Amino acid sequence: MADPLGERDRASEALDLVAAAAGPYLETLTSRPVHDPAAAGLLDGLGGELPEDGEGSPATIEELVRIGTGAATHSSGPRFFHFVVGGSTPAAQAADWVTALLDQVAGLWATSPLAAEAETVALRWLKDLFGLPATHGGVLTPSATYANLTGLAAARSWWGERHGVDVSADGLAGLPAMPVLSGGYLHPSSSKALQVLGCGRDTARILARDDAGRVDLAAMDRALTELAGPAVLIGNAGEVNTGDFDPIDELADLAERHGAWLHVDGTFGLFAAVSPQTAHLVRGVDRADSVAADGHKWLNVPYDSGVAFVRDPAVLGRTFGAWNAPYLQSAEDTRLNYNNLSAGSSQRARALPIWATLRAYGRQGYRAMVERHHDLALRLGELVEAAPELELLAPVRLCVTCFRYRKPGATGPELDELNRRLGEALLADGRVYAGTTVYRGMTALRPAIVNWRTTEDDIELLVSVVRELGARLAA
Ligand SMILES: *Cc1c(COP(=O)(O)O)cnc(C)c1O
Repeated sequence: MADPLGERDRASEALDLVAAAAGPYLETLTSRPVHDPAAAGLLDGLGGELPEDGEGSPATIEELVRIGTGAATHSSGPRFFHFVVGGSTPAAQAADWVTALLDQVAGLWATSPLAAEAETVALRWLKDLFGLPATHGGVLTPSATYANLTGLAAARSWWGERHGVDVSADGLAGLPAMPVLSGGYLHPSSSKALQVLGCGRDTARILARDDAGRVDLAAMDRALTELAGPAVLIGNAGEVNTGDFDPIDELADLAERHGAWLHVDGTFGLFAAVSPQTAHLVRGVDRADSVAADGHKWLNVPYDSGVAFVRDPAVLGRTFGAWNAPYLQSAEDTRLNYNNLSAGSSQRARALPIWATLRAYGRQGYRAMVERHHDLALRLGELVEAAPELELLAPVRLCVTCFRYRKPGATGPELDELNRRLGEALLADGRVYAGTTVYRGMTALRPAIVNWRTTEDDIELLVSVVRELGARLAA
């Protein structure tokens, strides 16, 4: 019988196996296909019955390393352009191992001053990196979906207070529906947040002035005038089809004029603030009442990692402080119980990888990475425009390039079908990953470049694989 107590004096043996596997895995990550279809059979090794007698940790971890390094999606490598997926910087990845090694109960100062202090410092550094006021409050979350949930929950508390209701204590009963306005760039995760918050997934009013979804500010102004009461605006900084931005500064003007709450989804787009070349894209984000961003996308820390910022540091305590509310915080407080500031309770010390990557590479390291990725997205746009059978569908704003394959004489529906099959063929092929979306009614590819390992060679390979597979499908 294998009892973990029997391994107490050799607990690091299993970790040594992981460390030994790390070198060979990471060294080949750059050259591997994103996915090896032949490795799918390895997944069978995960199955079988619950063991009656376990085989102990070394044999188990050896097996997991064998299956995992073969069958994993190697999305941490340089050519996973599907969705918006970052990798793990060496510092962040190692710090994530430290997080597992120390196994801190983050969330309470009493259980881990280390985790609390690291979270406070990580939040301060992130505010500095993004040009947000140092007086903002904030909290780390598992993802941007949770960060949108956090920001919109804070907005809901604020809105309830405008109606004289403590939503945390008394809920939404008796209140009217919370008015939420957005342009067409709204991400489904914000709708999901509204769904979870009891505000209704489909209640956001979309005010767009074209089929791309660009926000109609005049219509929003009129709608806010008609409402004549507290409302929530959602600004979208970095939309996933083309990487375009709502005009955040103008939204902040509207919010100010009408006394509305402005929440900004800056999941990856907030990183535009890191470079003077792109900072204009998020001008005004420092005026938002709440801002969501991701760690596991462009910050390149391991999953899972997100962050929410709020202008009024006390609002998170009022929104999430279940046990010892009213819970007042000031931004200078260091003995924070972060589990009072978000939906979670016990959690891993996800501040450590953020702290480590910011300490290791600093502002200039991140600026270089954002600028490199922006240049690569522009370069991809040039390669697309130079290829007669490819069509760029939108200007490249930041790190996303939206395009499709074209075939002379094909109708719109035929092109949609061709591009849909091209997206499938790319995933089945596995050398590069890029997926399809529907942009302005057209099926299109929209690779996003946010991985620190990616270079121009990877972009060139993406274009050549798209052309090769596209030609085969179009023939
Ligand atoms: C990815 C993304 C999200 C959701 O992020 P998760 O970390 O996957 O929850 C929200 N908004 C935008 C704009 C995104 O790109």
